[in-house]
Amino acid sequence: MSRTALRICPLCEATCGLTLTVEGTRVTGARGDRDDVFSRGFICPKGAAFGAVDGDPDRLRAPLVRKDGELREATWEEAFDAVATGMRPVIERYGPNSVGVVLGNPNVHTMAGALYPPVLIAGLGTRSLFTASTVDQMPKHVSSGLLYGDANAIPVPDLDHTDHLLLIGANPLESNGSLCTAPDFPGKLKALKARGGTLSVIDPRHTRTARLADRHIAIRPGTDALLLAAMAYVLFEEELVELGALTPHVQGTEELRDAVRDFTPEAVTGACDVDAATIRALARELAAAPTAAVYGRIGSCTVQHGTLASWLVDVLNILTGNLDRPGGALFPQAATDRTPRPAGPGRGFALGRWRSRVGQHPEAKGELPLSVLAEEIDTATGAGEPVRALIAVAANPVLSAPDGDRLDKALDSLDFMVSVDPYLNETSRHAHVVLPPPPPSQSPHHDFAFNTLAVRNQVRYTRPAVPLEPGRMAETEILARLTLAVTGMHGAETAAVDDLVIGQTLGKAVKEPHTPVHGRDPKELTAQLTGESGPERWLDLMLRLGPYGDGFGVRPDGLSLAKLLEHPHGIDLGPLRPRLPQPLKTRSGTVELLPQPIADDLPRLRRALTERPDGLVLVGRRHLRSNNSWMHNIPVLTGGSNRCTLQIHPEDAERLGVRDGAAVRVKGAGGEVTAAAEVTDGVRPGVVSLPHGWGHDRPGTRLSHAATDPGVNVNQLLDGSLLDPLSGNAVLNGIPVEVTATG
Ligand code: SF4
Repeated sequence: MSRTALRICPLCEATCGLTLTVEGTRVTGARGDRDDVFSRGFICPKGAAFGAVDGDPDRLRAPLVRKDGELREATWEEAFDAVATGMRPVIERYGPNSVGVVLGNPNVHTMAGALYPPVLIAGLGTRSLFTASTVDQMPKHVSSGLLYGDANAIPVPDLDHTDHLLLIGANPLESNGSLCTAPDFPGKLKALKARGGTLSVIDPRHTRTARLADRHIAIRPGTDALLLAAMAYVLFEEELVELGALTPHVQGTEELRDAVRDFTPEAVTGACDVDAATIRALARELAAAPTAAVYGRIGSCTVQHGTLASWLVDVLNILTGNLDRPGGALFPQAATDRTPRPAGPGRGFALGRWRSRVGQHPEAKGELPLSVLAEEIDTATGAGEPVRALIAVAANPVLSAPDGDRLDKALDSLDFMVSVDPYLNETSRHAHVVLPPPPPSQSPHHDFAFNTLAVRNQVRYTRPAVPLEPGRMAETEILARLTLAVTGMHGAETAAVDDLVIGQTLGKAVKEPHTPVHGRDPKELTAQLTGESGPERWLDLMLRLGPYGDGFGVRPDGLSLAKLLEHPHGIDLGPLRPRLPQPLKTRSGTVELLPQPIADDLPRLRRALTERPDGLVLVGRRHLRSNNSWMHNIPVLTGGSNRCTLQIHPEDAERLGVRDGAAVRVKGAGGEVTAAAEVTDGVRPGVVSLPHGWGHDRPGTRLSHAATDPGVNVNQLLDGSLLDPLSGNAVLNGIPVEVTATG
């Protein structure tokens, strides 16, 4: 007999509500939940394939422990014993920084991944933290940190109300949005046009999103910051700067005018391949629109000037008065945000509090660049100890970081490695212990991270759609036990981790005058928490202390877990609203428009005005039925448009003698790969494109379908040396390559 169950989709950032069909313990179907308060029934092909993703027979069912050089199935007790035995001696002998932690992108898509890694890292005390952020959005965190004093204060475009949207380096018709959580992003763009609004897209590829646009500008890759700086210049030159209600909250406008003086449209046109008149028109349209939002994403982040481009996106929103106003770009307010503190000066945002051991790269947001993980392992010289042991949680850096071949070898040299991963993949195959979390249908779900980026305030929670299979362990318990095993508390009750966090959070909250629980007894508050598990009590705590919470009885109508459970399709908390100055945590208590690290990086951007290397440059691309390296083992999501081909413009193909479908060799600073050519005018001349997350041809993995059509690892073209200096983000777009026909 079949039944239905609700589940928020974890397969991209849009967080759509799904209605699953469940037969026994198997998910046999998925459709959009029409009553979901946020997604209203929207679903994409990935969500529709939830059952196939969930039931992939290659998912590991039991832990693996390496014995006599081979990974073999073991009990959970044996696995955690092996973790404690393997990890503790390394920490005790070489110190906490000798243990690296790598967090992959799927961590932000699970409750466990949001809750436990911070406790794990704090418990270890390691500074060797690497995450997917430094091959993705770290520039945006850094620019937000510098502008607003909070690296997580990221304004999102008010898609439902804006009159004018300028997208740069973003392709939401394929990605469904990123750093902007919006179910049915494509529908929202169509609605914008239907209500008379305008859509402009800046992208070197003629993407599906670009095809929808009123104006598409095929910029030269990697020059986004120059174009945006020239738009800021025009706003000043033509006296179009109008801060409006932002005026009392912004400092540095005049300094900014001076700082962008060299970036005239005429000066940047040669580097960007965008004519000066078009740049002026873009700036004028932005200023003239009743409301407007500029939104930049991966193509403008993962470039040489990624932080400057991310900063300039916000600068344009600020100069046109569109930050923090309906129809512009606003700061969401999530239900599990901390209790809002009163507006006023904060601690500010610091970069470079420590540096990587070998390359001396500054930390950003407590992280070192993922690009330098290999050298932190395989290079003995440098201050301090190399990374000798590694904890990888939902991370596959052999494919996602530059120069996977070098990292592959480096991982083999580790004293100990543990992977928390559902698959034996290109990275976890090196582990001494693999701890597999259950499939998503067997896990609860709440989006801690994506609700802070959502285009509408709302809150939803789904309990596991299917009971935990016998022999499985909940991901929350895996991460709690892992934390205990590596911090010298192996064997303690996992509730100790939840109790510790709850106790610390409440202990702090009762001391803060602005919280609703100020002065109360933490024990009395702890006793009020509800939930079937430690993580549920944790969620209850965050909801009740949060901006919409019941404050433990102070606001009886407010949110709690019990109230949320009464609303299985979620609770709508309304449209985004202006919030300034409350979110600001800069030392001045204002938006600091020209922070010193940004000003110090502008000479590098000035040099880019005249640097124009010859030859082809490479950009990535996103496919609707893919997400990084996650989906290539799911037959229903591979093939068709989801193929690892090198897109090349017909003019370049003809010049190089490249035929459609024939093999071509692509060479970069880090190595070379051979891929099938796809001759298309979907990329501009001078640019070639390969998607990322491919290269499933290494031995020792258990990805049977992916191995049949492995594709090539685009990151092998990189040697790991190209970084955005402020954020440590890898430069993945706009990199020089040579292309040669081989057949
Ligand atoms: S858009 Fe994203 S969240 Fe929505 S169904 Fe597709 S993969 Fe899932």
